[in-house]
Amino acid sequence: MLAIAILAILCISGCQTSALGRSQFKMMSETDMDQMGAAAFTELSKQTPPSRDARENAMVTCVANAITGSLVGSNSNTRWEVRVFADETPNAFALPGGKIGVNTGLLQVARTQGQLGAVIGHEVVHVIEGHANERVSAEIASQTALQAVSVVADASNPMYGQMVGLLGAGVQVGVMLPFGRKQEREADLLGLDLMATAGFDPRESIALWQNMAKAGGGQPPEFLSTHPSHGTRIRDLEQRIPIAMPLYEEAKAQGRRPRCF
Ligand SMILES: [Zn+2]
Repeated sequence: MLAIAILAILCISGCQTSALGRSQFKMMSETDMDQMGAAAFTELSKQTPPSRDARENAMVTCVANAITGSLVGSNSNTRWEVRVFADETPNAFALPGGKIGVNTGLLQVARTQGQLGAVIGHEVVHVIEGHANERVSAEIASQTALQAVSVVADASNPMYGQMVGLLGAGVQVGVMLPFGRKQEREADLLGLDLMATAGFDPRESIALWQNMAKAGGGQPPEFLSTHPSHGTRIRDLEQRIPIAMPLYEEAKAQGRRPRCF
């Protein structure tokens, strides 16, 4: 009974719907999430040196700019910072606050601009759909439900800033945890639309995920972390291609034809 009451109170302040109609519980403000994302990005930038390869930097920046440049509405207001990290692990991420990181190792797997567009599109969808906010909100709700109620209800409560501060400091906990399967699927499908809108052939996403499956081994990259089988992912993408192709054709007709590689 108490749990239901808590959820009801939390939902008043935090229940929303994703672009694919999935019910979302987000209780952090966008400003808080942006600050946490920026703090995590600063932390990661201290841990890993940037790539000094001008060509790699130009390629990644070009693809990322094409993706973020095709965002619409309030999402188009964000100024995105793109950084290439000298790290051979094939990985990439995007964080609230407009931060994109791509490891040089990813370029061994994402071998065309469309394949890189598929990864960055996927990561940017995590940000614009507020997936980190959901994850942090679930964490707070599960660990400190009662405290969270008073915090959410009153942003002037001293605990509010304290909690945000804690999450910002514990960036690995707050922002870099793996996403859930539903969020991964959402990032895949909406990421396909986004790459197509940016002028990248959405069919290239299939080759990318096949390359990733072959690369395998070691620590799973963000976009493989909690996903079901590669087969399921590729089948879901193939079913979405008929929706993404018209977006791609329209992008080309409007002159959005990136030449990054
Ligand atoms: Zn993902």
